Amino acid sequence: MIVILMGAPGAGKGTQAEHLKKDKGFLKISTGDLLRREIAAKTELGKRVEDIMSRGALVSDEILLQVMKKELDLSHGRNLVLDGFPRTVPQAEWLSSVAKISGVIHIDADREELTSRIAGRLVCTACEAVFHISRKPPKIANQCDKCGGALTTREDDSRERVLHRLDVYHRQTEPVLEFYRENALYFRIDGNGVESSVSGQIDMLLEKIGR
Ligand code: AMP
Repeated sequence: MIVILMGAPGAGKGTQAEHLKKDKGFLKISTGDLLRREIAAKTELGKRVEDIMSRGALVSDEILLQVMKKELDLSHGRNLVLDGFPRTVPQAEWLSSVAKISGVIHIDADREELTSRIAGRLVCTACEAVFHISRKPPKIANQCDKCGGALTTREDDSRERVLHRLDVYHRQTEPVLEFYRENALYFRIDGNGVESSVSGQIDMLLEKIGR
């Protein structure tokens, strides 16, 4: 089964992909995390994408297809959850040509909710766990509850860049939702609630998609 989680920045794709990994045994492919790892390791690919990502723009389809091809080859038929891919119609068309998608879950949240979540977001530099300064604070300030790693804010989470990312989402990624609606693979859920309520909606949909 291949499930795609879609939604604007801050909608909770990463958090819910982690839920499917931890509680449902899915293999999680998060293209944002993969690219950030390349940057941290200072690889050639990391150097090519660093500036683009920090500006909040999209990395080229050519690079993303290479990255995804490699990940899909390594997935060995496991149940997959995709977080952050596809983000453009050409990426979605390519994916349909190489894999059978079971369902696309659109986590839909209001703009004010998205911006306030991102404004307080903290990310672990070691294990990529996500916290929020007031809604999900770490037990010890600036330290990850899960692995003890240092918490940081993402460079592309600054207010100005978030507004740019929301605009990029509107122009380049929303047409992907239409693509999946036409293919009858699209399911929308309300992403405004707390983490557990969104997970509950996803779990119910999975039963429907899996049947
Ligand atoms: P995310 O962690 O999903 O918010 O992704 C962070 C950044 O990684 C995005 O703003 C893009 O610069 C880049 N990125 C991640 N996935 C993709 C994709 N499918 N296509 C293009 N760029 C991507």
